[in-house]
Amino acid sequence: MDRLTGKTALVTGGSRGIGKGIALRLAREGALTAVHYGSNEQAAKETVAEIEAAGGQAFAVGAELGVPGDAAALWAAFDAALAERGAAPGVDILVNNAGIGLLSQVHEVTEADYDQVFAINVKAPFFIVQQGLDRLRDGGRVINVSSGVARIALTTTIAYSMTKGALNVFTHTLAQQLGGRGITVNAVAPGIVATDMNPHLDDPAQRAEWGSMSVFNRVGEPADIADAVAFLASDDGRWVTGQVLDATGGSHLGV
Ligand code: NAD
Repeated sequence: MDRLTGKTALVTGGSRGIGKGIALRLAREGALTAVHYGSNEQAAKETVAEIEAAGGQAFAVGAELGVPGDAAALWAAFDAALAERGAAPGVDILVNNAGIGLLSQVHEVTEADYDQVFAINVKAPFFIVQQGLDRLRDGGRVINVSSGVARIALTTTIAYSMTKGALNVFTHTLAQQLGGRGITVNAVAPGIVATDMNPHLDDPAQRAEWGSMSVFNRVGEPADIADAVAFLASDDGRWVTGQVLDATGGSHLGV
């Protein structure tokens, strides 16, 4: 499929895990895809190489998130990379995927942990959008990677879950604001996905146990989430906005 030919996409945290799956998928649909990374330039370059080997177009963009000035640095790197390629400025599809987990109950969360998880998971997407408003093309897409835990009471991820709840509110409120420009704003909320965020899934017994939460009896893979993102990014998703789309393999149905 080439639903995104002629579009430019930016995927934060696109060098590994779910973000890599999204970057590969959007590029496969024809989008010129910016693969953002924090510190692992090598991983981003490998993702770019994988996209190019498959006939797609991509480039890497580095910027540490969760630090002062992160959004400005990200956009400066993005603008420079586009100019270097001779590509038109602007972005059609912005995917706020980068995020960190925090496995702590309420009495365990330190102030530093709290500040960091909110800085990366909430503040960074907020200011990336704010400072990207002039770059976002009319008819474009903002897609936030949320989490199914925002709407279940998982005590071991309380602060992390709160960040995704904030992202959900950001999503529907921004959808109201940007609709006049034909821009849709949605979130995709994965259930548990086999990525570096969940090293415990390397243990087959744990993997089976977590997989049993899904009605399909397996854990999610990055491609499962990427396909949902591709739908929202494409013209097929033009009438869907302000939504948080559960991509949990039905694991939210049991709670
Ligand atoms: P991951 O740890 O493999 O990837 C996270 C990505 O974010 C990496 O590319 C990393 O470089 C980037 N990132 C993290 N901190 C950064 C920083 N300070 N600066 C720049 N980049 C930074 O995890 P993942 O599972 O692929 O997570 C991707 C998104 O999916 C996250 O927002 C996460 O909350 C969400 N999510 C994951 C799961 C899951 O089970 N894996 C479930 C629900 C939601």
